[in-house]
Amino acid sequence: GVLSDSLYDELVPVEPEHRPLKILLLSREPENYSSRRLVEEAERRGHTMDVINTKRCYMNITSARPEVRYGGKVLQQYDAVIPRIGASITSYGTAIVRQFEAMNIFCLNSSDAIRRSRDKLYAHQLLAAQGIGMPVTGYASSPSDTNDLISIVGGAPLVLKLLHGTQGKGVVLAETKKAAESVIDAFRGLDADILVQEFVKEAAGTDIRCFVIGNRVVAAMKRTGSEGDFRSNLHKGGKASKIRITKEERATAIKAARILGLSVAGVDLLRTEKGPRVLEVNSSPGLEGIETTTGKDITGAILDYIEKRAKIIADKRLRG
Ligand code: ADP
Repeated sequence: GVLSDSLYDELVPVEPEHRPLKILLLSREPENYSSRRLVEEAERRGHTMDVINTKRCYMNITSARPEVRYGGKVLQQYDAVIPRIGASITSYGTAIVRQFEAMNIFCLNSSDAIRRSRDKLYAHQLLAAQGIGMPVTGYASSPSDTNDLISIVGGAPLVLKLLHGTQGKGVVLAETKKAAESVIDAFRGLDADILVQEFVKEAAGTDIRCFVIGNRVVAAMKRTGSEGDFRSNLHKGGKASKIRITKEERATAIKAARILGLSVAGVDLLRTEKGPRVLEVNSSPGLEGIETTTGKDITGAILDYIEKRAKIIADKRLRG
């Protein structure tokens, strides 16, 4: 079963770590809700947390002594790194995380896992290969076989997405084949990579965000788009509410995060008659929407997880 063969099973029955930890939060937004909550909760537990702008870090890449530097100093004293790497700096940000990994510092999400989830095409391929349900999806780069592309996903209505869009930007619903053709033509003019997807009508402008930590879904919320918008992104004025997810949805979210190798993930899925369909797996899921909507202490759950992992790593080091 999905739960029993979890990568994380070996990590479950451990005592929480009480030693104060030094934690590094990599974020370009020290003042946003997620950063503030992480710092506040870490300090409440007696840990220290430094927030450092990922872009200000630089590296000494040598095999003998890999380093990450910041403001003239080596960053090496940390027990854990929480990477919150924005989509616009994936390449540089994951290089910094990789460097911390080379220094044997625990990173909440690994550089490889972040890269896998950021590359939508790659992530889709990995998830599909492991049997994760997704809307039928075609990919193309400046396509000229428009007809075939449209027929792959069963014709109109269909959803077109720019491969490099985020927050619902570059996501279009084409109600008719004609509309689909003209949007594909427009994207081709931009020389953009696109994704053509079956429109899941019964989702009715609503998606489900499952917040995964380790091998658990710690919270879930339903997001509904503003009136007349099939996109449910909160950035676009959508509304969120609590939702009870099904066993299958829970198992799918956990499995999707695990396939990509993410310890912390926001898995977005659509509820359909044929079961859950995964849209996207986010490696830096925001804390504000999920905490205010569900009233749950997700930040605390993240710190619980870091404390457990830090203890396992410390014990391993002691044993040599
Ligand atoms: P982004 O990554 O830019 O947020 P998404 O792929 O998550 O883009 O799409 C934005 C929103 O549009 C989703 O949250 C969902 O509500 C809606 N949506 C996306 N794809 C489909 C689809 N195939 N069928 C129905 N609704 C969809």
